[in-house]
Amino acid sequence: MPSVKPVIQHEDDRTGLDLETLKRAFLDNLFFLQGRYPAAATKNDLYMALAYTIRDRCIHRWLYSQNAYLDSDAKVVGYLSAEFLMGPHLGNNLINLGLFEKIEEAMEDFGLDLKEILDQEEEPGLGNGGLGRLAACYLDSMVTQNIPAVGYGIRYEFGIFDQEIKNGWQVEITDRWLKYGNPWELPRIEAAVEVKFGGYTDKGFDENNHYHVNWIPSEVVQAVPYDTPILGYQTNNASILRLWKAEACESFDFQRFNMGNYFGAVDDKVRSENITKVLYPNDSQMAGKELRLKQQYFFVSATLQDVLRYHLTLRKHPIGLLAEKITLQLNDTHPAIAVPELMRLLVDVHAMTWDDAWDVTKNTFAYTNHTLLPEALEKWPMEMMGRLLPRHLEIILEINYHFLEEVKARFPGDIDRLSRMSIIDDHGEKYIRMANLATVGSYAVNGVAALHTELLTSKVLHDFYEMWPEKFSNKTNGVTPRRWVVLNNRKLTRLITDKIGDGWIKDLSQLKKLELFVGDKKVLNSWKEAKLAAKKELASYIQDHLNIRVDVNSIFDIQVKRIHEYKRQHLNVLHIVTLYNRIKENPGKKFVPRTFIFGGKAAPGYFMAKMMIKLINAVGEVVNNDPVIKDRIKVVFLPDFNVTNSQRVYPAADLSEQISMAGKEASGTGNMKFTMNGALTIGTLDGANVEIREEVGKENFFIFGLTVEEVQELKNNGYNPRSYYEENAELRKCLDMISSGYFSRDEPGLFKPLVDALLYHDDYLLLADYQSYIECQDRVSEAYKDQEVWQKMSMLNTARSGKFSSDRSIQDYNDDIWKCKRINVSLPEYNPHDRTNIKLK
Ligand SMILES: *Cc1c(COP(=O)(O)O)cnc(C)c1O
Repeated sequence: MPSVKPVIQHEDDRTGLDLETLKRAFLDNLFFLQGRYPAAATKNDLYMALAYTIRDRCIHRWLYSQNAYLDSDAKVVGYLSAEFLMGPHLGNNLINLGLFEKIEEAMEDFGLDLKEILDQEEEPGLGNGGLGRLAACYLDSMVTQNIPAVGYGIRYEFGIFDQEIKNGWQVEITDRWLKYGNPWELPRIEAAVEVKFGGYTDKGFDENNHYHVNWIPSEVVQAVPYDTPILGYQTNNASILRLWKAEACESFDFQRFNMGNYFGAVDDKVRSENITKVLYPNDSQMAGKELRLKQQYFFVSATLQDVLRYHLTLRKHPIGLLAEKITLQLNDTHPAIAVPELMRLLVDVHAMTWDDAWDVTKNTFAYTNHTLLPEALEKWPMEMMGRLLPRHLEIILEINYHFLEEVKARFPGDIDRLSRMSIIDDHGEKYIRMANLATVGSYAVNGVAALHTELLTSKVLHDFYEMWPEKFSNKTNGVTPRRWVVLNNRKLTRLITDKIGDGWIKDLSQLKKLELFVGDKKVLNSWKEAKLAAKKELASYIQDHLNIRVDVNSIFDIQVKRIHEYKRQHLNVLHIVTLYNRIKENPGKKFVPRTFIFGGKAAPGYFMAKMMIKLINAVGEVVNNDPVIKDRIKVVFLPDFNVTNSQRVYPAADLSEQISMAGKEASGTGNMKFTMNGALTIGTLDGANVEIREEVGKENFFIFGLTVEEVQELKNNGYNPRSYYEENAELRKCLDMISSGYFSRDEPGLFKPLVDALLYHDDYLLLADYQSYIECQDRVSEAYKDQEVWQKMSMLNTARSGKFSSDRSIQDYNDDIWKCKRINVSLPEYNPHDRTNIKLK
């Protein structure tokens, strides 16, 4: 007998994708989840109703994906990162579901503007900058490529601070991103685990006469997971981002309650919850605070417990098989405490021998190094480690002992090498070097751009490279074209798709096909129109929010990224002041107008970076209001640079400023977003700029400044910034104006510390690179005059940006490091019969 299929009347309101179904689901959610009649709905109600509508579709895919992973028993990647800078979910999910236009239409039918609804979303700013955003792009690409993956991190109650500018200075405002609730996450209270801290260790022999260490902690905290489904583009596969929140451990509370210590119990609660209260707002600077180490251990310990439960209980694999079934990628050293933690779990809890446990551990982890800056390399005082994690310190010392024995055997008599490679730094106060720990405890170590990996293996980790050359490889960073082109640049997306089809969205190398059109005047004109449209949108945002009128025909010259001396925003300022002086000296001369746009946050405790923000605003104040300048130069500082705001910026750029001192920027990813959106780059040979130039062609890239080797040589020969000041009249004039109060009339000495730092130290060689930068900028202005040539170069930049898709990066990680099988998830057609006739027990 053939089984009778039930007749499906209409699509399921929770899974269906047609216009009418989506509209019905939206109204339903508005009514029943928000409790609103349409007429009374606020913008937030509308946003929430739409978010829930889309979330249903996400959960649908995720549940089927989870099943498919389990059934296939495939190897899984756990991506461990202290930061995930996800950006708003709604728009991205609409793109990945292929529903953006349909929802636009649905909202229009209700008389609503999708853009306004999207603007309601408070982005989860759970990262500082590039490193956190990379984790987000990588999740998108892992899911899109059907690689079974889970992101593990911290659910900070307060993410990166909101930035306001008051009187030219940065003011930090607490980021209360959870204020209106978060529709994208599902708390999984029942999957909470306990994380221990402090106390002491007890050594002895167990009943079988085996040596055994017992850790008796002084504090126990609950880690509660919150899951956010992550979609891929045009795939049924979906994954999760699992973020841990700290809560008081109930059993601990009750003990105190029973003893009548009410306030003691509440104290514990507050102390426990502090662990995930706030993201440390330092980018490229290690925060040596105890609470930060607690955050790191907290999320790592919870994650490893979760991973082992999945491996042992859900999948029922023997513990020895762990490394074959899961790879844990460490995003920088922030999660590197995972190495001793896994050893502890294997040896102390699962009774493995040290050697077997070490074998599993070092084959489970892979480590991505993100920085060469000495001040960013993590090291923890041994004393602090011993106090907070006494058992882990013992394990680290034992790992180090075995490791140094291996080094001695390999390089007999090389005492200096032992001290360089040791996980313990014992020059004075003793420290744990987390990069060394991560390198020793991983089967793969990678840098994030060709130049960075080159410097890593020849300098910072050279000794390790000599010992294990096969461990090291390069994985040049990438960014997801779904968010960074398709979502943030709808016009350009339509134009490209019109010409070459939409295959490029999943295979960015197909952008190459655009090269066929660089000789086509009509296409070049459309290209220019798309850029102009984006510039107009940004211009009107600037007008509305900052009350500055900018000329959309001027060069939009943009530098957006964290504010840092090594990134040299102040070199950009020196160029602005130089142009200002040139116009003032020669007001009648023809001049290619420029709009200088800056954005970025300074770490709250970083004095010089905050001064740089003030300087940009102070120069803007003078330049923007000088009648002689007219509209030829405008300087704009966009407050609160985050993912939401950045999406207005990258599409509107003519010129991308990537001007760090060579050897300092590991890769950069902002540079890639600009290139994809057709901006030309002015840049040094640093990080991924080197590869961008290689790809787009040196004739389509404005390069200046010293190379890494030249920087080295200059520093070795005793760099004297003063000589550049004395020999270059234009430079001298700029610095004198800044230091003598031309831009700070009310407080003439304000910028003297900044100028003095340049004249007396200039660690980042601004003065040495100044002339080369100015001349290069002159070439940019010259090139911009010929719009046809400029548009061609712009189009070639986009056409040749395929390498910088995070899809390519993830493919490289998977081919060389993870080696996971891709799993195709099928979504069975919805069948109401399935849901009503299920036996639950
Ligand atoms: C891409 C991105 C960054 C990284 O920019 P870089 O120029 O590579 O330093 C920082 N912040 C946000 C919000 C970003 O989107």
